Amino acid sequence: MARRPVVAANWKMHKSLGETRDFLRAFLPMVAGARDREILVAPPFTALALAAELVRGSNVAIAAQNMHPEEKGAFTGEVSPIMLSDLGVRWVIVGHSERRHVFGEGDDFVAAKVRSALDHGLRPILCIGETLEERDAGATLSVLERQLAAALAGIPGPDLAGLVVAYEPVWAIGTGRTATTAQVQEAHRSVREWFAGAFDSSIAGEIRILYGGSVKPGNVDALMALDDVDGVLVGGASLEADSFSRIVNFRPAG
Ligand code: PEP
Repeated sequence: MARRPVVAANWKMHKSLGETRDFLRAFLPMVAGARDREILVAPPFTALALAAELVRGSNVAIAAQNMHPEEKGAFTGEVSPIMLSDLGVRWVIVGHSERRHVFGEGDDFVAAKVRSALDHGLRPILCIGETLEERDAGATLSVLERQLAAALAGIPGPDLAGLVVAYEPVWAIGTGRTATTAQVQEAHRSVREWFAGAFDSSIAGEIRILYGGSVKPGNVDALMALDDVDGVLVGGASLEADSFSRIVNFRPAG
């Protein structure tokens, strides 16, 4: 069965309510015809409720950029999976490299979030990726394997139907430096092989693996033409409706 592409926007700490409204009013008609792919937008927490309301009835779904694994408690500044579900959010980005490297989130915390998201009916977009030092040391594939093994330990195979993986080399995020198509395909292939070994070949064949790292309208077609790339996670180029709609409306090259 063909894997349905996922095109996801990560707005990070950008956009007020007014900017969110303006973006979605312009963007929704631009992508209304794209019915064969899943389109996700992850605004900041403050704009989730408005965005969820504005996309209702459209082919665009809303994702959160992060969540805490607990349902409630003394976790000042955090947002729980129940609160996200309450807003109509169905997806959540987990383990983004900015969470790992700027906010010091480790593999165990990421694993707790994945488990909690799945337990609460939220679909995690699990981000993994190596730093430049790790790539230069030839450790890319072992880092990806370590991150996957840690994040998915103890999760039964059937639960993974709700999961999407995003391979995001840290050195390619927000730097304008996209990984080469050969580097992307090699990493994605090894992620798929990891799923075959850790779970089984049917799960490996179905799991969707997105690429993220300086994706733009000009490189998305080549990326989407790669055998093991099932979508993209886009930061900077998702902030303008025109640019993100061109990415959503990709046409695989080749
Ligand atoms: C991201 O934040 O996940 C990302 C890939 O950012 P950018 O597209 O700006 O590199």
